[in-house]
Amino acid sequence: MNLPANQALIDDVQFLDIQVPEAGQLTEVSDGIFWLRMPLPFDLDHINLYLIKDFEFGGYALIDTGIGIRKTQEIWDELLASLDKPISKVIVTHMHPDHIGMAGYLVEKYKVPFYMSHSEYFVARALSAGSRGASDWQDDEYLQRCGFSESYRNNAKENRKTSKGVGQVIKPIPLQYIRLQANDTIDIGAEEWQVMIGRGHSPEHVCLFNKQQNILISGDHVLPIISPNIGVYSTEPDANSLQQYLTTLPQFKSLPSNCLVLPSHKQPFYGLHTRVDELLAHHQAHLQSLREFCTERKTVKECLPVLFKRELNPHNMFFAIAEALSHLNYLYYEKELSREVNESGHFGYKII
Ligand SMILES: [Zn+2]
Repeated sequence: MNLPANQALIDDVQFLDIQVPEAGQLTEVSDGIFWLRMPLPFDLDHINLYLIKDFEFGGYALIDTGIGIRKTQEIWDELLASLDKPISKVIVTHMHPDHIGMAGYLVEKYKVPFYMSHSEYFVARALSAGSRGASDWQDDEYLQRCGFSESYRNNAKENRKTSKGVGQVIKPIPLQYIRLQANDTIDIGAEEWQVMIGRGHSPEHVCLFNKQQNILISGDHVLPIISPNIGVYSTEPDANSLQQYLTTLPQFKSLPSNCLVLPSHKQPFYGLHTRVDELLAHHQAHLQSLREFCTERKTVKECLPVLFKRELNPHNMFFAIAEALSHLNYLYYEKELSREVNESGHFGYKII
C-alpha cells in the first residue's frame, strides 16, 4: 500500500519519543506547543496541561490549569515568573477540579478571556458552590439503590458531613466566560483550533483539533493506557452517560489516523483510531461481562468485582460505583436488563 505520508495508517498506539517533563517544566511537543505537568494528590498523580504560543494575542494560551491547591499555585507562580510573556487566554476542557482548579487564579491574575463549553461552565459553578444546606437524602438513596448496607451508608453520611466538597480544590470560578460549541474555531497565535465535543466523562467536554499541525488536544475524553471514568452519580442517577460516551467517541476517527494526540493524563501519543477502537472494545467487554453475570438478579455492589479486579479504596470506590451504574443503566435502557427494587431498597438487575 502506498499512501501519502500524511495518510499513513497507524495501527498501534505509540508514545511520542520525548522525555516526560518534571512538574512545572515546559517541553515543546510541536511548533509553539508546550507540554506541562502538574502534580495531583491521587493514585493518578499528575495532569498534563498545554501552553501554546499566542503572541498575536499577547502571550500564551493555556489549556487546562491544574487542581486548585497550594502546591499547584506555588509551581505556577515559579513558572509564570520565568515565562517571557503572560498568559493571554485560558481554555478549560471540562469541569473536573484537576482541569478547572486554578482557572480562577490565572484569569484573575492576567484579566484574560476564559473559554469553556456552556454545560461545563455552569456545572462547575454549581458543584463548586456545594449543597448550600440542601438535604442529602438522595445521596443516601443512591447508595441504597446501589446495594450498600445501612452501616456503609451511615459512614458515607458522616464523611459527607465533614467533607468541604469539591469547591475546596477549585479556586473561585470567573464570573464570565466565552462559550465554546461543537465546530467553533478558536484562534491561537496564527492557527485555528476546531472544537469537538465529547460527552459521558463529563457533560460537554471540549477537545481541540489543529488541522495545520495535525494535533488533537483530547483532554480526558481519549486517554492512552487508562480508560476515562464514565460514571453515573447521585446528582442524576438515571443518566445514560455510557451511551453518550459511546456515541461521541467514533467522531474522532474522522480525524487523520496519524495525528498527534495530547491527552490530559499519561503521555502524548499516535494511534488515535486504534485507541478509539480499544476504548469502545473495553466498554463492550464490560457490558458483556455484566450480561453474563446478571443471569440472576444482582446489585451494583455485587457487580463491582466483575468490572474491577483490584482492591478499591474509598476514593476509587466512589468512581467504581458510578462506572458500574453507567454500564447497568446502559443495558437497562437498551432493554437488555430488567431492574427491580428489593425489600432492602436495593436495585437488582437481571438479563431479560
Ligand atoms: Zn475529567
